[in-house]
Amino acid sequence: MAYSYEAPVSQTLFDRASLVTPGGVNSPVRAFRAVGGTPRFMVSGTGPYLTDADGREYVDLVCSWGPMILGHSHPAVIEAVQSAVARGTSFGTPGEGEVALAEEIVARIEPVEQVRLVSSGTEATMSAIRLARGFTGRAKIVKFAGCYHGHVDALLAAAGSGVATFGLPDTPGVTGAQAGDTIVLPYNDIQAVREAFQAHPGEIACVITEASPGNMGVVPPRPGFNEGLKAACAENGALYISDEVMTGFRTSRAGWYGVDGVAPDLMTFGKVMGGGFPAAAFGGRQDVMAHLAPAGPVYQAGTLSGNPVATAAGLAQLRLLDDAAYVKINAVSAQIQSLVTDALSKEGVAHRLQSASNMFSVFFTGSDVTNYEDAKKQESFRFTAFFHSMLSQGVYLPPSAFESWFVSTAHDERAVERIAAALPAAARAAAEATEVSA
Ligand SMILES: *Cc1c(COP(=O)(O)O)cnc(C)c1O
Repeated sequence: MAYSYEAPVSQTLFDRASLVTPGGVNSPVRAFRAVGGTPRFMVSGTGPYLTDADGREYVDLVCSWGPMILGHSHPAVIEAVQSAVARGTSFGTPGEGEVALAEEIVARIEPVEQVRLVSSGTEATMSAIRLARGFTGRAKIVKFAGCYHGHVDALLAAAGSGVATFGLPDTPGVTGAQAGDTIVLPYNDIQAVREAFQAHPGEIACVITEASPGNMGVVPPRPGFNEGLKAACAENGALYISDEVMTGFRTSRAGWYGVDGVAPDLMTFGKVMGGGFPAAAFGGRQDVMAHLAPAGPVYQAGTLSGNPVATAAGLAQLRLLDDAAYVKINAVSAQIQSLVTDALSKEGVAHRLQSASNMFSVFFTGSDVTNYEDAKKQESFRFTAFFHSMLSQGVYLPPSAFESWFVSTAHDERAVERIAAALPAAARAAAEATEVSA
């Protein structure tokens, strides 16, 4: 692979990492395997910029995969964290910060009457599924191909994100028993959902879906799809779980629920709500949440759940995310989206730029992408060329064609100008790319 340019310090760190950590990373997509080359080891971030170990600065269009919605090192978040740290970092008891964060979530999102805090999105979806099974007394769950819900055993079947990036059909280590109760359906296909309920009467505990998928690239629900899921669940005594780990507090003040208004029975959150720390949550109908220990029999727990530093960071971030913040993020996102489309169109590169509020991604294909099968048909080798051109010009994109791009309130005119300046050469590289050279 000819992409190991200009990152000698990162390369040295990656060599060290590869000796002591499988693949040299602690989360697979970070390793750049889909695009090749040396993953950049970052040392600091300010506003819309990241600086790597070789001292190069990048406009960041990953934002830690969504959480850094105010940009890096936002002064109010840093101050809240420093003041929390000074009071102690973990007590293993209840604390006011976690109450305030729960109140903020409940106040923003109407269908969430009660919420339980956890430490990762994976834990949130895992616990929500357990609760749905405990509440309904049923075993089967429905998920959609290309939707990623964390690395929960039962949810790794046909998952998005890293599983999509690496084209893994299935994951060794997940047993038939763990995946056997998972029904995987094509996304955006409401007929398939109705047929699944007919085929398994009284057996399906829940349908879990990304509120608007961003882990196979951005593939929004067709109009009426989420409403259809809700109705199918209600008619069949199953719970409708909307995974808003990515979209929550990102696509609007109230996440995707704030965009489409379809009220789920349970919802999951993570990413933005942690302010750059490990904080996540699941919540929803009070009568369902009442089944959780210690109020009810469904067990769920966590040594660091509701951690005072993480909750302080999350709360500080959410308090700054008012309607004006979303107007700003949406505007800069729209600006970047049109710059990308213009640059690719100018070079005659077949592509679809798809968006869901301020989340967006580019598919290198001539047809609309409505599900995972469509997404896999794109010419990923063009993305590889595009990615490396942008990287070499100081713009950091997600290192995979199957991930959303993220912006923040800190992405200002100067950052946008840098992106604009890099796009023509990147679009040309995409146009000239061939499958062999990728
Ligand atoms: C990121 C993500 C998860 C997993 O969250 P982690 O904090 O990485 O465990 C779950 N669901 C969705 C939709 C996500 O985007």
